[in-house]
Amino acid sequence: MKLLAGKTALIFGIANKRSIAWGIAQAFHRHGAQLGFSYAGPALERRVRPLAESLGVTFVEPCDVSSDEEIARVAEKAEQVFGGVDILVHSIGFANRDELQGPYYNTSREGFHLAMDISVYSFTALARAFQPLLRPGGALLTLTYYGGDKVAPNYNVMGVAKAALEASTRYLAYDFGPQNVRVNAISAGPIRTLAAAGVGGFKAMYKQFVDFAPLQQEITIDDVGNTAVYLCSDMAAKTTGEVVFVDCGYNILAVPAPREMLGR
Ligand code: NAP
Repeated sequence: MKLLAGKTALIFGIANKRSIAWGIAQAFHRHGAQLGFSYAGPALERRVRPLAESLGVTFVEPCDVSSDEEIARVAEKAEQVFGGVDILVHSIGFANRDELQGPYYNTSREGFHLAMDISVYSFTALARAFQPLLRPGGALLTLTYYGGDKVAPNYNVMGVAKAALEASTRYLAYDFGPQNVRVNAISAGPIRTLAAAGVGGFKAMYKQFVDFAPLQQEITIDDVGNTAVYLCSDMAAKTTGEVVFVDCGYNILAVPAPREMLGR
C-alpha cells in the first residue's frame, strides 16, 4: 500500500547518504510521493545530485535557509514545477562546533543567534514562504532531539534551539489548522550523521544508547523515514502539533539501569 501516492514532497536537509533527510526521502519514494530536494549550498551538490538521480528526482535546488531570498526562490521554482506542495520536511540544524562541548554558559551571543536562526527560525521561514502553495491535507515535518526536553551533556545551545523548535511546531500547527495542514516533529534517537558528529562526546553516548533503551536497538534513518511517512500521510490525518519519539523508548526512562543490572 503506497501511503503517499499523489502527494508532492519537498525535503530540505540532505547532506549525504547518512542524513536523516535521505532516510525520509527513500521512504517517501517507496510510498509513491513525487519528490523535490533542497540542499545547503554548492559544496553539497556533488553528493546530493547522485542521490537524487538514484530515485529519479529532478527537482534539486540549493537553498541556504538563513537567506529569505533563497527560500523565496525555491518556493517560486516549486510553484512553477509542481503547482502546489503537499509535504515539506525540514531536517536542518546547525550550531558552532566549539559551543557543542563544555558548559552551556559559554555560548556566545553570536553563536546563540546562529543556532536559533538556522535550526529554529528556518522552519518558520519555510512555512511562511510555502504557505500559499500548501494543499489541504498537507503536512510539515521537522526533526528534533530529546536534548530539547532534558539536559543532554554538550548538546547545549542545540538543546535550547530544539525546545524552541518544538514550541514553533505547536504554534505553526495552530496557524495551519484552518488550512487543514498538519505540523509535527519527530524526536529521533542518536544516529551517526555529519551533524551528530559535531556534538562533543556523541560517540560515547551513541555506544551506550543500545544498552539503555528499552528496545535495545540502534535507530536508523529508515526507522525515522517510516515514521515520517505515517505522519505526513492521511493515516495521521488528525495528528498535529505533536512531537513523536523514534528513540526505542529511551525517553520513557527516569534513570538508565545501572550497568550491573543490565545482564548484557
Ligand atoms: P546532517 O546529515 O548533517 O543534516 C543536517 C543538514 O542541515 C545538512 O544537510 C546541513 O547542510 C543542513 N544545514 C545546515 N545549515 C544549513 C543552512 N544554512 N541552510 C540549509 N541547510 C543547512 O545531520 P542529521 O543528523 O541528518 O540532521 C538532520 C536533523 O535531524 C537536524 O535537525 C538534527 O538536529 C536532527 N536530529 C539528528 C539526530 C542525530 O542523532 N543525528 C537526532 C535527533 C535529531 P551542511 O552539511 O552543508 O551544513
